[in-house]
Parts: sequence; C-alpha cells; structure tokens
Amino acid sequence: MSRVALVTGSSRGIGRAVAIRLAKDGYDICVNYEKRADKAEETAAAVRELGRKAITFKADVSDSDAVNAMFDFAGKELGEVDVLVSNAGIAGQAQIQDVTRERWDRFFAVNVTGAFNAVHEVIPHMIHEKKGCIITISSMWGLRGASCESVYSATKAALIGFTRSLAKELAPSGIRVNCVAPGVIDTDMLDELPEGVKDTLADETPLGRLGTPEDIAEAVAFLASDKADFITGQVIMPDGGFVV
Ligand code: NAP
Repeated sequence: MSRVALVTGSSRGIGRAVAIRLAKDGYDICVNYEKRADKAEETAAAVRELGRKAITFKADVSDSDAVNAMFDFAGKELGEVDVLVSNAGIAGQAQIQDVTRERWDRFFAVNVTGAFNAVHEVIPHMIHEKKGCIITISSMWGLRGASCESVYSATKAALIGFTRSLAKELAPSGIRVNCVAPGVIDTDMLDELPEGVKDTLADETPLGRLGTPEDIAEAVAFLASDKADFITGQVIMPDGGFVV
C-alpha cells in the first residue's frame, strides 16, 4: 500500500530535500509551494525519478482555504496524507524598532498559522485511522535568542509549544508529533545575510560547517519511520552542536 507525505514549502531548500528523502522511503509526495512553480516541478520530477508519484500544489500556507483545497487535491490524486511535514517558513533579520506590525503578522501567519492550517486539515484522517505522523520544522532560534531575530525566534518558539501540546493531545489517537529544529542550513534563506556572516556562522558551529538540507531530511525521515515509533513530543536539533 502506498503511503503519502505532504511537505509544505518543498519547492526549494530543506523541504525539497525532505520530499526526495521521503520518496526514497516509499512515499508519494504532495509538493507545496507559494511562488516558485518551476522549482516545485523540479522537486516533483526528482520524486518521480525515484519511482514515486508526485503532485505539485500552489498554496500560501497562511491561507486556510488554499490549504483546504490542497489537502482535497492530494487526497484525490494520491490518497489521504499519512505524514505531514510542516516546513514552509519565512525568515529575516531586523532590529526590533524596525519591526512593523505588518512584518510581525506576516511571520506569524506563515510560520505559525501555516502549521496550524495544515495540521487542522490532516488530523481528521489521522484520528480516523488512529495513526499518522506530524513533523514541524522550527529552528535553533526557537530555543535560543539571537539579536535581530526576535520575530522569527518568537514564531519558531511558538511552533515548539504547538508541537509538544499536540503530541500529548494526539498520542492517545496513535499520532506522533515531533519537531526538527535545525541549526544554520545552507539554503536560499541565508541569501539575505550580510557578506561574511555565513562564514562566521560556520566557524561558530562546533562541527565546523553549515548544515545541508539533506542533514535535516535525514532527521525528518527518521522521525517519520517506524524506528521512531516510541518517540513523540521531541525536538531534535541537527545543528552541528551550535546549541548544546
Ligand atoms: P527556503 O530555501 O527559503 O525555502 C522556503 C520554502 O518555503 C520554499 O519552498 C517556499 O516556496 C516555501 N514558502 C515560503 N513561504 C510560503 C508560504 N507562505 N506558503 C507556502 N510555501 C511557502 O527556506 P529553507 O531554508 O529551506 O527553510 C525551510 C524551513 O526550515 C523554514 O521553516 C525555516 O524557518 C526552517 N529553518 C531554516 C534554517 C536555515 O538555516 N536555512 C534553519 C532553521 C530552520 P516558494 O519556492 O514558492 O517561494
């Protein structure tokens, strides 16, 4: 029987690596994106090359109607979703006096409400089946403060609270909920960092390098697998030792 995973924000970066890694484990994949249809198609093509089915769906995760339509489409094309990876996110640095109300709201809408919207759609089927797996993607900045990251940090800390509470609430229904909180991972998200900061962050990482999207995908694949059958409510940190 085929298994289905939906990975939000899987057109690029960590989400793409997760989609491909889960396809290697036998999942058919719904590739979600917001803007980059071209990149979403590349992810889907990589999944299909592995012999799995892939569909793409444009949905801003902050829009509950769009997320509802995405789950309907995935259900019809692939079957109900067994694994949800809530990965879509936005980041950016700003001093608190420069953080507008609009920026604050948008970060929470995508990073937190986006996760809620996806969870809300996937839960009825999982509760009915008495099984399922949800993995949220937070950040080490959700556990540790960083200058000029207050909004992003707040959203990522919120995700951790959401994950832990969901884990307790859904465990009696056989649903595991875990969080992956990456360190600094070399994706497009780092493009807006000032010159030289990437090198500094690599130096500050005890293992001496930035992480790769594949480093994160391995942690997600483990949590989605039967090997993690007794693990729920946890925050796993593939961060090269940054936060110890
Ligand atoms: P990325 O390279 O910037 O990719 C972001 C992905 O999210 C893209 O697929 C993008 O779609 C999608 N996305 C953005 N806003 C969306 C929205 N409103 N609705 C649906 N999809 C949306 O980012 P990344 O580095 O892979 O980050 C992925 C996740 O890991 C994020 O939650 C991020 O906070 C977290 N994280 C990243 C790092 C890091 O150092 N990179 C560290 C810790 C945690 P389009 O292609 O269509 O724009």
